[in-house]
Amino acid sequence: MSGFVFNEKPITIESGEGPYLYSDRGTKFLDMGANYAVTPLGHSHPAVTEAIQEQAEKLTYVQASYPVDVRTELYEKLSVLGPGNLDNVWLCNSGTEANEAAMKFARAATGNSKIVATKRGFHGRTMGALAMTWKKKYKAPYEPLAGDIEFVTYGDSEELAEAVDDETAAVFLEPVQGEGGIHPATVDYLEHAREVTEDAGAALVFDEIQTGVGRTGTLWACEQAGVVPDMLTAAKGIANGLPLGATLCADWITEDFGDHGSTFSGGPVVSAAANATLDTIVEEDLPAHAGELGDYLMENIQTAAEEHDLPVRDVRGQGLMVGIEVKRGANRLLKQLALNEQILALPAGRSVLRLLPPLVIDESHADRMTDALTEVLK
Ligand SMILES: *Cc1c(COP(=O)(O)O)cnc(C)c1O
Repeated sequence: MSGFVFNEKPITIESGEGPYLYSDRGTKFLDMGANYAVTPLGHSHPAVTEAIQEQAEKLTYVQASYPVDVRTELYEKLSVLGPGNLDNVWLCNSGTEANEAAMKFARAATGNSKIVATKRGFHGRTMGALAMTWKKKYKAPYEPLAGDIEFVTYGDSEELAEAVDDETAAVFLEPVQGEGGIHPATVDYLEHAREVTEDAGAALVFDEIQTGVGRTGTLWACEQAGVVPDMLTAAKGIANGLPLGATLCADWITEDFGDHGSTFSGGPVVSAAANATLDTIVEEDLPAHAGELGDYLMENIQTAAEEHDLPVRDVRGQGLMVGIEVKRGANRLLKQLALNEQILALPAGRSVLRLLPPLVIDESHADRMTDALTEVLK
């Protein structure tokens, strides 16, 4: 039954170090997807491993109503590192749960139910977050999902203004759409979203589950637009591989958020891993590195595409969140990259190759990516 839920890949992974994964046959793969952006520091980073080991020896679990040093430290760290005054932190175990909490908090805080989400958007796969997710394929077999969701075209300020009214609880936006094909929002659009939600008394929620923890060039992507939401959700890379989700909230959201909880909320081992991850990202200034290296990578791929007349329609992204739209199926390309070049990447829809490498890669890894892509596309 091991293949029951997942379509398994024909490679068994045994270990990992930095940006590399090693198969049981000793093949070394460059992981240019960081396995869905989950390992910003690379695989099995020593600072994170040490934090996990130390905490596991001391205490692996105590329920969230008992203060524990590592969890308190994480609450404080996230409220300091979060944009603006998002000082109230809810911890959970995944991205979809972080969004689920944000939906509930927005409804409780505003007394409204309508949620505005975007076409091509992705917010997770539980019944609430799934309802805000655009792709029919993910939703159809499970309907009915949570109700009162209205979809608008991502990037269209007018449509957004029309959809947001005094019955709106929240607007959910990814500052760069990930799963939907790597589409960065303009500063104007995010500013406009801030304005219309503020006018309507609705919550603006930025889903930074993929864009967050340094990937786009700043710790949170919204910092580059200078727009502070009412809630920000994070997960994926926040504990460099351990399951953690976070919902960062403004005061007005948590004044009356109802009754929400989760047994594993902010477990000590996961919290220790997250503290080590965030400390390392900040100390090593990895967001700035991601910004520079992302520009370098995108420029080089663009240049190679022009020089070799590759079937590339567009190269776009922000920092180390890169989409390469190709004039052929992304899945075949991914297979070729893995089998011929020992590079693991990701798709974003049918024709976009998605790169979300560990933030610790350097120019040599970026060059290898460009060369490999040129080789398989030639
Ligand atoms: C991955 C992702 C989610 C869902 O996170 P899970 O941990 O898989 O539940 C939600 N939003 C965005 C933008 C994501 O990339």
